[in-house]
Amino acid sequence: MFVVMKFGGTSLGSAAALRQVARIVQKARSLDDEVVLVVSAMNGITDLLLGSAWRAEAGDVQAALQAHQQMRARHEEVLEDLLAGSRRLEPVLAEINALLNEFEALCRSIHVLGELTPRALDVVAGMGERLSARQVAALLNHYGMAAQPMDATQIIVTDDSYGSASPLMSPTAERCRSLIPPLLLQGIIPVVTGFIGATEAGIPTTLGRGASDYSATILGRALSVDQVWIWTDVNGVMTADPRVVPQARTLGRLSYSEVGEMAYFGAKVLHSQAIRPAKQAGIPLRILNTFEPEHAGTLISEEGDSSGQTVKAITAIRQLSLITVEGAGMMGVPGVAARTFGAVAHTGTSVLMISQSSSEQSICFAVPTPEARQVLAALEKEMARELERRDIERIWSQDDIVILAVVGAGMKGTPGIAARIFGALGKHRINVIAIAQGSSEYNISLVLSRSDADAALRGIHDEFSLMHGE
Ligand code: ADP
Ligand code: ASP
Ligand code: MG
Repeated sequence: MFVVMKFGGTSLGSAAALRQVARIVQKARSLDDEVVLVVSAMNGITDLLLGSAWRAEAGDVQAALQAHQQMRARHEEVLEDLLAGSRRLEPVLAEINALLNEFEALCRSIHVLGELTPRALDVVAGMGERLSARQVAALLNHYGMAAQPMDATQIIVTDDSYGSASPLMSPTAERCRSLIPPLLLQGIIPVVTGFIGATEAGIPTTLGRGASDYSATILGRALSVDQVWIWTDVNGVMTADPRVVPQARTLGRLSYSEVGEMAYFGAKVLHSQAIRPAKQAGIPLRILNTFEPEHAGTLISEEGDSSGQTVKAITAIRQLSLITVEGAGMMGVPGVAARTFGAVAHTGTSVLMISQSSSEQSICFAVPTPEARQVLAALEKEMARELERRDIERIWSQDDIVILAVVGAGMKGTPGIAARIFGALGKHRINVIAIAQGSSEYNISLVLSRSDADAALRGIHDEFSLMHGE
């Protein structure tokens, strides 16, 4: 079988985890699988890189110097443990140090200029994957497998939306096909950096936080692989985040659409964009646990699971604000909704959920809290005349809200689901601020206060007996 295997930050975060990775790759090779690896940064590194760049811009270059030491210590500790006594140790440490020096030089320039452009930020943000790919390739070499690190800046061609660039599939496929098969033919495992790409002119970009999953499916599609395996730190996609709902259970099979809804509504286990390339090419995805590799995990395909279970999972997106535009005079004002969302779109903010009351006296929608202030300012400007005339009375934001999404393809056409959800919430005395149902009927989303979110997740999980499978 020809597979892309992606390993996430926790799977690469310690010497013990990396030994697991080497075993998993070795096993695949022993079964004659042809593999291309995609690797994330070690866990915590991307945050450290971004934080250093932001602080350098704000005048504090010390943070970058400390981050340099911290990253160096972390990579050295792991490599010295894994490659003790090997002739491979020094060369890989030298490569890691060269990249870390580059990082420090970049932060010094940001500090001197006092300015951090999105383009420069992407160069800094992507360094964790470049470090990690070198580390993993050296490890595989040490275990007797020929492997070569590859920066995806040579392979994944993107537009120039720094921070969340989109891949351009046809040049990407061309580069993939010219660079990767020749290595495979020589028995070399390509170890490709996740998360990053570059424009056609070669300027580095990133695909968005958590997007190494996306890199894996982009490569999978470009190379027409048989499957993409996402190795992470849990036993597949579960009925809820196991960190919040300890009884959560693995979902053995899901459709692309179901997992798409879950990922969009906060299930961090898979990046929401990652599903599209796999779906377009009909490539099945497996979500597997690096620390329990024998567990079957989750298989994601077009069909999913046809057992007819209605509700399958509950997810949550946190750190949101609910913006409300309200006023009795809105009814007569033409195009309020269009103008509202036009003004929001202008700020580049994505709206996660919309709800309008039938009396047309208010529209409310959820946006990420860091964006709320600029959205309010844009709306106040757009609606200045209506506010003055009191057609619109108030535009306001309620912070600390969460969207819960109850997801499952079997919900379509099944009456009574919403009633059970509200029953469960009522039992726990949880107030629902707003609700929406996606037109696909694959999900019902609820807006709640942050302080109610965890109890609501557990209450709904119980109500649908998701721990047993209905
Ligand atoms: P990686 O570093 O491997 O990409 P992530 O931290 O991005 O891993 O994603 C895995 C985490 O996603 C899990 O540790 C888990 O806490 C969280 N998670 C959230 N919702 C779910 C869910 N429904 N099923 C499984 N994991 C989930
Ligand atoms: N390292 C990147 C991040 O933390 C990408 C990833 O892990 O998928 O966002
Ligand atoms: Mg992830």
